[in-house]
Amino acid sequence: MNLRGVGVSPGIGHGPAYVLTASVPEPPEGATYTGEAEQEKERAMAALTRVAGELEARGNQAGGEAEEILKAQALMAEDPGLVVKVRSLIDRGLAAPRAIYEAFTKYRDVLAGSGGYLGERAADLDDIRDRVVALLYGHAMPGLPAATAEPYVLVARDLAPADTALLSRGDVAAFVTEEGGPTSHTAIIARAMGVPAVVACPGATTIRPGVRVMADGASGEVRLEPAESDVADAVGAATARQAAVAEAQGPGRTADGHLVPLLANIGSPADLAAAREAGAEGVGLYRTEFLFLDRTEAPAAEEQRRAYQAALEAFPGGKVVVRTLDSGADKPLAFLPSSAEPNPALGERGLRTFRKFPEVMEAQLGALAEIATDDLMVMAPMVATAEESRWFAQQCRAKGLRVVGVMIEIPSAALRARDLLAPVDFVSVGTNDLSQYAYAADRQLGAVSALHDPWQPALLDLVAMAARAAGDAGKPCGICGESAADPALACVLVGLGATTLSMGAAALPAVRAGLAAHTLQQCTFAAEAAREQTTAGAARAAARVHLPELARLGL
Ligand code: PEP
Ligand code: MG
Repeated sequence: MNLRGVGVSPGIGHGPAYVLTASVPEPPEGATYTGEAEQEKERAMAALTRVAGELEARGNQAGGEAEEILKAQALMAEDPGLVVKVRSLIDRGLAAPRAIYEAFTKYRDVLAGSGGYLGERAADLDDIRDRVVALLYGHAMPGLPAATAEPYVLVARDLAPADTALLSRGDVAAFVTEEGGPTSHTAIIARAMGVPAVVACPGATTIRPGVRVMADGASGEVRLEPAESDVADAVGAATARQAAVAEAQGPGRTADGHLVPLLANIGSPADLAAAREAGAEGVGLYRTEFLFLDRTEAPAAEEQRRAYQAALEAFPGGKVVVRTLDSGADKPLAFLPSSAEPNPALGERGLRTFRKFPEVMEAQLGALAEIATDDLMVMAPMVATAEESRWFAQQCRAKGLRVVGVMIEIPSAALRARDLLAPVDFVSVGTNDLSQYAYAADRQLGAVSALHDPWQPALLDLVAMAARAAGDAGKPCGICGESAADPALACVLVGLGATTLSMGAAALPAVRAGLAAHTLQQCTFAAEAAREQTTAGAARAAARVHLPELARLGL
């Protein structure tokens, strides 16, 4: 069987499916069994022993502190007191999953009530309980696996940045999610990691755990139990494409020498090595909120200074664009709480949150001011009006920051880009949110992902408006949304007047190659042809007519 979604991070990934379940459902209250009590007890004991064994094995593999934690968890799974309780509940007629559920829940409540270190172990008990119940029902295990023998295809309804914080490139062969769109954070994280990804894939969560999956992060095809020869062919084609693309080296430029610095989107200093390796010429978007997703207290200025300084040091002489905290909606920061809102994407997020918490703003701008140079560019997210742009510029300049900008990611900002530009030095277009707000389509929702196709003509028009306003003002206009990662669209964006392009490191080589193979005039013609169309598909096709070398490069 094959599934199809939207390919958002190119490459071929294959491996066994690991299905991430949001939660394991509670076994129905009063659920009973039909066979013998002894058999039911054996079923329960076997599941407990297996989960304990798995936890212990994972501990051995992980080593260090994780080993101690996992081994302690394994011991809990076979705690004699719990075992007695489970057995007696089965004797009273309860089915094994319900007996496990009740016995563990009772223990966890006792633990939680004792507070301190023991109280914190309540969550461990919940985890063991969910694992045993999932095993008894034949459901997928909750949570992310620790190190596995082979990289797995991570299948989920959707992934939040916090879910994937601990993953490393070597663990995951591909991401496949039922929800999400080209600009969702699953897509952004996958690109940052250089892992192939398919989002908005109906039926993804029905994939059985362990089934072999091959995901094509370019076409969006997800094949279940593919023939080995098909995997070999797909991997071969991807490798050939990589080799063709790797021939273009050096700074970003068109075939006739028009320079377009190619920059990296990063979320932490850990992303810098990959950015440099991929030939980034600087950082075009530092998503600083990604640094602090797990914090309950505002980070100190000194810690922030070090994290920002690392980016400047990684690119001596290159530009580094740091975005101030973009908290809210799908990136909540506990230390910048928002009130319950019916539509968080339309609520107090981005710059709006920043204005509500002046002390947090002070700390971040202060940390940046300490390392201010002409190469450190600071910009605000979610700017809607000229007044907000002026206010942000004043705050930054008062602190001594030299280069200040705003993001264009709300249609009002694109429409009045000239006014927003007046008090600042540059703008950067965030096409992810710009399409979310232009098309009234939640970027996290698979059902509306077609509206997030970055080739949508209205989005191209809004980008053109912003780029033209910046050109008229003689100020740079970068693009840092995911649209810049598509080699054909990158040429179109340059044709529209973008002066820099910023993307996840993995996309840089293909964009560099696509740009180097076409002249500025070809890019301009491609942009004009795209904007003449009325659908995203037609815009893509019309642009590609003017970008003939892309096919030769396999892009
Ligand atoms: C954007 O909206 O295009 C953008 C670059 O910001 P983020 O994806 O972090 O919202
Ligand atoms: Mg945004």
